Amino acid sequence: MGESRSVDGSTPSLRRTGPQGAPVAPSGFTERTSQAPPSPITLHCGTLLTSMMPLRNATLSVIDVTQFGEPNAGCAYLLSATKIALIDTGTAASAPRLLEALRGLRLDYVFITHIHLDHAGAAGHLALAHPEALFVVHSRGLPYLLDPTRLVAGVRAASPTLAPMYGEPLPVDGDRVAACADGESFPLGLDIALVAIETPGHAPHHVCFFEPTNGVLFAGDAVGHHGAPVDLPLTVPPRFDPAASRASIVRLLGLQPRTLAFTHYGLANDAPALLMAYPRHVDEWLARVDALRARLGPEEVPDAVLSEPRYALLSPVGREVVRLCVRGALLTLDAQPETRASQRVREQRAG
Ligand SMILES: [Zn+2]
Repeated sequence: MGESRSVDGSTPSLRRTGPQGAPVAPSGFTERTSQAPPSPITLHCGTLLTSMMPLRNATLSVIDVTQFGEPNAGCAYLLSATKIALIDTGTAASAPRLLEALRGLRLDYVFITHIHLDHAGAAGHLALAHPEALFVVHSRGLPYLLDPTRLVAGVRAASPTLAPMYGEPLPVDGDRVAACADGESFPLGLDIALVAIETPGHAPHHVCFFEPTNGVLFAGDAVGHHGAPVDLPLTVPPRFDPAASRASIVRLLGLQPRTLAFTHYGLANDAPALLMAYPRHVDEWLARVDALRARLGPEEVPDAVLSEPRYALLSPVGREVVRLCVRGALLTLDAQPETRASQRVREQRAG
């Protein structure tokens, strides 16, 4: 049943820090732009920071799960109509913080965009604390919710540095999990629904969830890491599929979303522009890695990428995430034998 390739729990977290590790304000590293969402209300619930945005017939809350201990690195979304849905869970290490944010709520659904451990790692912890919630996931990801053992092994292989920071995921009972079909709609009442949109590319088990009444698209990792300090195509191991990613973006554009809800990180209202820019952003990233790969050994390429000024002030965790995306890009390029750079090398060698 399901996945034959190894999977990782690869995680973007691109906080930039100042000399004492303090977060630094965004400063124009990004080529992409976004507008602030309309009228968010920021709530402080104990130590938790949550932004709440009123929608037509619903409320949308952004729960900062402080992924890897860093703010604005990973979030979960709470969509409340008659029924209440959570979209993505954050890591197992973030579970206490997430559960605190959800205390007193009755969750009807937990929608998982994909089973990487920064999106689904807290699922088992949530299942214990919210016995009424049904977990919805792509059929190829479903076995990993029931048994996250291989996800943990995948993370350890992909990034021994980050692996301990994910925490310990717990299994979810099979009778609590449903595989969603492409195009399947989950009504939440009050004319609010979430529609599953299969979006392979970042991972073969990736699903976006679209709320048509308000035009909000819960993007998971399908449109990369968004916002300060750098936008980053999430070309993580084991193999990012650029053609599938491009096709998924075309499909998402066809939905005409107004707002993108990024797990990494937050809401952006210029959805069409961001979607249209992403394939070019991916191509440019792969071309940069490809050019370095043509003259350096694979072990040297991540450091060469990180020597670029745009990454100079990334936190150690952010630098490790970039490394992970470079490693994934190298695997992707290896799977495409005749890239521009490799063609150039071949021609040079030929004379
Ligand atoms: Zn992912």
